[in-house]
Amino acid sequence: MASSAVQPSRSRDLDKLLLRSGNLVGENFEPGPQLRDDLREYVRILVVGAGGLGCELLKDLALSGFKNLEVIDMDRIEVTNLNRQFLFRLEDVGKPKAEVAAKRVMERVSGVNIVPHFCRIEDKEIDFYNDFSIIVLGLDSIEARSYINAVACGFLEYDSGDNPREETMKPIVDGGTEGFKGHARVILPGTTPCFECTIWLFPPQVKFPLCTLAETPRTAAHCIEYAHLIKWDEAHSGVSFDPDDPEHMKWVYDEALKRAELFGIPGVTYSLTQGVVKNIIPAIASTNAIISAACALETLKIASGCSKTLSNYLSYNGVEGLHIKVTEFEKDKDCLVCGPGILIELDASVTLQKFIDLLDEHSVLHLSKASVTHRGKNLYMQAPPVLEEMTRSNLSLPLFELMGKVPKDILHVTGIAIKDDKKTSCLRKLRIVFKGVDGVTDMDMAGGA
Ligand SMILES: [Zn+2]
Repeated sequence: MASSAVQPSRSRDLDKLLLRSGNLVGENFEPGPQLRDDLREYVRILVVGAGGLGCELLKDLALSGFKNLEVIDMDRIEVTNLNRQFLFRLEDVGKPKAEVAAKRVMERVSGVNIVPHFCRIEDKEIDFYNDFSIIVLGLDSIEARSYINAVACGFLEYDSGDNPREETMKPIVDGGTEGFKGHARVILPGTTPCFECTIWLFPPQVKFPLCTLAETPRTAAHCIEYAHLIKWDEAHSGVSFDPDDPEHMKWVYDEALKRAELFGIPGVTYSLTQGVVKNIIPAIASTNAIISAACALETLKIASGCSKTLSNYLSYNGVEGLHIKVTEFEKDKDCLVCGPGILIELDASVTLQKFIDLLDEHSVLHLSKASVTHRGKNLYMQAPPVLEEMTRSNLSLPLFELMGKVPKDILHVTGIAIKDDKKTSCLRKLRIVFKGVDGVTDMDMAGGA
């Protein structure tokens, strides 16, 4: 097994990037052995997700010379993960992914320390995330990305001229894969667009127009969706389709096959039927490897300055041949998440309860069931019940007093917002200004103090 001594050859390739200058280096790059050692000692990286992409990321980051890694994932290992989540073995099935992934990488890469966290990302205190130099995402869910993005952007402070203060910027490197396609992006909150600035990159699921399904099917998927969306309801009045019921699935498959024969369309199989109906996109190991490599390199670039970072979104497409393109997306200056925050002016007499009601009625926020945090201190928490009870007495107190009688400051609120008819939990940054309170100067703007 791995010896505890670091082999001299280990950093040979890394040294080429870190020990000498070049014409692509970042602004404050200072090459030398000190930089290499500092990266090992002081840079702390959180990997979010220990699935297909997360396994690759942990391995790549460990081999890129980072020593202090942590990984957070709420899932347990399943048999179907084993083909691509290469850190896991058959005997690991049922164990937490984060724990096994950390253990396996530490066994193979000497000197690296990986702390696993087997829990939901929302279970961690916000301050947990502030301890890391860079957060790297290997996630497959938009909601989880959006959450981490909001947390990281929440740390960003602005000066009195609404310029982001660089020392409060928490960089995110986000990777994502779907079949043969993937992306890697660098989010420098306040500088490059955050996840929310470009949320339109994730359009709602495209569905086939019903008229195509009913009249002019051209593909096997059209035939399957016809059986699934139209035929099923005609034949089973009142019984809703259950994608986990094998008999239901078989029925759809048989109907799709009949339809495909009628129109002379090949390719309807039982597994394709499952894939289309359950909207399963196969995971491809090589896509994960390519995207992870790009993410690990960007992480190294941010941490060391050895090269300018990706600006700012790389898309990879391996469906036909191989196509990689980098797009420079633009920041949304009105972004609720990475911008200076929504300004809310209040009378000094407004109670916390009244403030929470105002968030619900607010024309932009529409935030219900809000929990409120001020500088890491919980002013009111909706859950868990213990915290709710502990903070309930604050509701009748003026917010001005709860915030230490400062004329203006930042508040963080989490709650439920309705977006596209869907309820999502979200975190918002608010700039609170108390009306008619003396001592308001530009110097204690926006989280200064
Ligand atoms: Zn943004």
